[in-house]
Amino acid sequence: APKVGVLALQGDFREHANVLRGLGAEVSLVRRPEELSAVDGLVIPGGESSVMDKLARAFGLAEPLKEAIHAGLPVYGTCAGLIMLADSIVDGIRGQQSLGGLDVAVRRNAFGSQTESFETDLDIPAIGEHPLHAVFIRAPVVESVGPLATPLAALTDGRVVAVEQGNLLGTSFHPEVTGDMRFHEYFLAKIHAA
Ligand code: GLN
Repeated sequence: APKVGVLALQGDFREHANVLRGLGAEVSLVRRPEELSAVDGLVIPGGESSVMDKLARAFGLAEPLKEAIHAGLPVYGTCAGLIMLADSIVDGIRGQQSLGGLDVAVRRNAFGSQTESFETDLDIPAIGEHPLHAVFIRAPVVESVGPLATPLAALTDGRVVAVEQGNLLGTSFHPEVTGDMRFHEYFLAKIHAA
């Protein structure tokens, strides 16, 4: 079984760990550089990206994470995790940094305080013909997609909410809370192929 790490500094890492275990992966929580070196792929969960950024730097994980991403480790970021993977954050707070890797700019909390969370069905050909029920919680959107990244899903208004680039995958929404595991399966297939 592939060894899949879930970054466990903050956020909903337990939900991701449960989904991945259910799919047969050997899951470990990653909080230290040596735990990162032991995995074949990594999920960065939802949470609060500015806090995750601070903790990653405080725990000495930010540089090892950047190096691993650069070296081709498969990484899947959901929501705050997508923000961490974005090369640029349009509206980061007080010195907030991302790890980067995805050639995209993201906007945090893009749906405003009026729409804290919502759910919608998305057509995502990359993961199958049935629409995916997507849950957005204070979600970011991908505001611009550079030439190295590929959009996988968009809202009806055209705003991009899932992207892929080589070994990297990012979604604005939270597949770990819906029971539809196709995104995690898609990510495990990437790990197998890496
Ligand atoms: N709004 C959060 C952030 O900026 C993300 C929310 C989430 O991960 N559900 O990090």
